[in-house]
Amino acid sequence: MFSKPKLKNFLKKIDRPKWGDFFYFEKFPVIDLHCHLRNEISKHTLEAKRAGIDALVFMANSKPPLDNLERIKKVLKKKAFCQIFPVSAITKGLKGKELVDVEKIKPYVVGFSDDGYYLENLDLLKQILEKNVLVLAHCSPKYEIGLKKPYLETKYVERYLKVFEKTGGKLHIQHVSQKTTVELIRDAKKDGLKITCETCPHYFTFTKEDLETKVNPPLGTKKDVLAVKEGLADGTIDVIASDYAPLPRKTGISNFFAFLWLSFGLVFEGVLTKEQLKEKLYLNPKRIIEAQGHKLKI
Ligand SMILES: [Zn+2]
Repeated sequence: MFSKPKLKNFLKKIDRPKWGDFFYFEKFPVIDLHCHLRNEISKHTLEAKRAGIDALVFMANSKPPLDNLERIKKVLKKKAFCQIFPVSAITKGLKGKELVDVEKIKPYVVGFSDDGYYLENLDLLKQILEKNVLVLAHCSPKYEIGLKKPYLETKYVERYLKVFEKTGGKLHIQHVSQKTTVELIRDAKKDGLKITCETCPHYFTFTKEDLETKVNPPLGTKKDVLAVKEGLADGTIDVIASDYAPLPRKTGISNFFAFLWLSFGLVFEGVLTKEQLKEKLYLNPKRIIEAQGHKLKI
């Protein structure tokens, strides 16, 4: 008679909770490394706080954009319900033409990003990397182009890595969504490039067939979703961020609540251990923020 193999032999050898195992997680602070607060800091930070987020980094594409010290200082005076760290634009007006006053701005921000727009001018990228400030790179074309040519994400990241290889500096790739991008970053890290990157919950949860929603970069295919999970599991992807983006459209899937629910789901699924989840949502973003000379209160 065969003895029935024990079920646990077939499970991943990680500490995995069951649905309903409410006391499985120990509390840890949550940092969202990529969101948009537009022009309403109080309203959106309250939303973040309610969702369970303790600190957040927000992008420069408010109206007008955060591309000078005066505006950044003004924003920092606004009432916020969690700790906030602004990111400055890389170029004036997010237009991709002229660098902002990096030296003046850098003590007040976590880093620089033209998020929302791909900065095509590699000479400007070189110039800002040489200033050794953190560059948070949006390597996606416009939404409509990305839908037709999703491979451009990988191509753009590749271009940036080539510049970075020569200049050094501090580079963080935002919202990785494609299998080929995960592979490229994995190889780059193996080759010793000191970069970090993030993905967002929608990229490890939904394919473009699952959900009709406008997020940039657009949702990928099954193989992309799987590759993003693998990238999270093996440490290629350092951070999970929400890319919460209210107005001019609705937040849709990129909202603060889905951010945490879907991220914690990775542990129930067996993709991440709870220790790994804590790294992606707290320890790694904390390390990135503090490496820029800022202090977290959590
Ligand atoms: Zn972006």
